[in-house]
Amino acid sequence: MQHPSDAERIFALEEQNRGLRAEVRRLRDEVAREHRMASYALNRYEAHATQLKSARQQNRELYRLAANMVRVKQAAEQKADEATEHAQQKGTLLANFSHEIRAPLNGMIGYCDLLSREEGSRLTQTGLQDLHAIRRNAAMLLELINDILDISKIESGRVDIVKEWVDLARIAEECLAAVRKPVRNEVIALRAQVSSSARKVYSDGLKLRQIMLNLLSNAVKFTESGEIILHISAVDGALVIQVRDTGPGIPPEELDRIFEKFCRGREANVQRHIGSGLGLAIVRELTCLLQGEIDVESEVGTGTTFTVRVPQVFQERAEASGTLNPPTVIEKPSSAQPQTS
Ligand code: ADP
Repeated sequence: MQHPSDAERIFALEEQNRGLRAEVRRLRDEVAREHRMASYALNRYEAHATQLKSARQQNRELYRLAANMVRVKQAAEQKADEATEHAQQKGTLLANFSHEIRAPLNGMIGYCDLLSREEGSRLTQTGLQDLHAIRRNAAMLLELINDILDISKIESGRVDIVKEWVDLARIAEECLAAVRKPVRNEVIALRAQVSSSARKVYSDGLKLRQIMLNLLSNAVKFTESGEIILHISAVDGALVIQVRDTGPGIPPEELDRIFEKFCRGREANVQRHIGSGLGLAIVRELTCLLQGEIDVESEVGTGTTFTVRVPQVFQERAEASGTLNPPTVIEKPSSAQPQTS
């Protein structure tokens, strides 16, 4: 057997050496790649760990907020319950109290009328004036109590809406008749104009009646001469009730305030006319209950026009109206549609 020469051995060793270096390079590359992957994985792990930590923190914060919200909701519910209970107690108290006071007041008014009718001729001028003053004050107190009762009922949500077919021409006549008595010596012409399209109304007749009555009473109270017109029409599904008078008018700076509770306008009004300052507040609340709106236009020295617009057909709103105590809507089953002639 022939031995490899030195040159051949050197060549074989160099071959082996090259192979080993290539292996070392491959291994180094592999180590570098593994290292890169390991640090990438480490970075991701650290990022996840940070995310997890902040998610845990957010969770804790959410739990805290949720617990706070539950506490706030419970407190709000408790306050609402208390408010409802207070409103009910106030309503009951007012109802009892007003009953106790209305009976003697009605009695006083009745006796004053009787006295001035039967004994009026025997009384002195001063005696008669005193009697009228007693009657006026009793009537004012009665009006105040009735108005306070009405507004408190509306505010505490104890007012139902009774839907029925309403004969507006009849109601308009009844309202005119009710306010006509105090109209002095025909100095004021009092008329109603009801367009035939406005006779078919499906709404709450009693509330519409009270709206008209309050506006007409004011017109009669403040107008010295000229005319008062109750004009009722229907425009695009809306019932439009207007009360126009040729009274003293309302100064522009008072127009925004007159619908507020207990606002009595000018000093002269307060001194000369009986009133609770609740009539227009009640009209506004009733209009709002009937899903309508009220406007006023007035010119001092010329007159005033109040305009109430409510849907001709009242429809209960599906969504919560935002009112604390939305009214209960009752449908009067036996109400017949009025004939339009
Ligand atoms: P009251 O009539 O009891 O004072 P209201 O709430 O009915 O209370 O009216 C508030 C105020 O608005 C009245 O005091 C008056 O100043 C003014 N007002 C209302 N209606 C008329 C009207 N038709 N003409 C002039 N002023 C009016």
